[in-house]
Amino acid sequence: MSVKRVLMHIPDIIIAIDGYSSTGKSSFARLIADEFDFLYLDSGALYRGVTLYAIENGLVSGSGKIDVPALEIAMADLDIHFEGHGSRSMTYMGSRCIEKDIRTLQVSGKVSPVAAVPQVRDYVDRKLRELGRRKRVVLDGRDIGTTVFPDAELKIFMVADAAVRAQRRADEMRSKGEEVSYEDVLKNLQERDYIDSHRDASPLAKADDAIVLDNSRMTLQDQMVWIRGIIRDRFNLNGRD
Ligand code: C5P
Repeated sequence: MSVKRVLMHIPDIIIAIDGYSSTGKSSFARLIADEFDFLYLDSGALYRGVTLYAIENGLVSGSGKIDVPALEIAMADLDIHFEGHGSRSMTYMGSRCIEKDIRTLQVSGKVSPVAAVPQVRDYVDRKLRELGRRKRVVLDGRDIGTTVFPDAELKIFMVADAAVRAQRRADEMRSKGEEVSYEDVLKNLQERDYIDSHRDASPLAKADDAIVLDNSRMTLQDQMVWIRGIIRDRFNLNGRD
């Protein structure tokens, strides 16, 4: 019997994956969704979508000052959603696929101040809770295990050396055709980590009951082996078919 069949028996739970920027949370969460047939929700993509909207509509200045009242009005009708499953999940704004546009350094440079606005957090939290109601979901972000789904049955907190994270993210962006320097990527992720950890509204933090995963020296395959072990132990799946 395959490992996969054993693990398909995992109950309908919520898996919350939080951690620092560019620790590979979304790649890991997408693979988990594929393997266990869970819905994948990328909370960062929703924050990035709101940020893209704010940039394109002049609601965030060069220095990161946000027109909160105008953004709040716009969010009443702002339709950011996901289409597709697991590793094929894509982010849309209305009928426009924004998956590529939300991953640029321009959006990365403004997303943390936007995500610190309480009204923006309410907008994203509402969407996530609505989508997560059916359970059997894996979400990644900064405050999933502490704020969005504090009762999630499995919480993971991802960390990795900053240099490793920056190199991975720079390689990923270059592979998608964006010209970036390692130094700019490193600076951006350190800035985001700082803002995310120090804001008043739902700061980035490890939930007390989260398991830490340091993947500085792990491949994605290593991480899948690790999570299978955790899930087997946690849900007593040894020997089940
Ligand atoms: O996960 P990703 O790096 O795409 O997230 C982009 C940004 O969105 C983060 O740097 C953070 O500022 C914000 N974010 C957040 N809370 C979450 C997910 C993302 O504040 N749950």
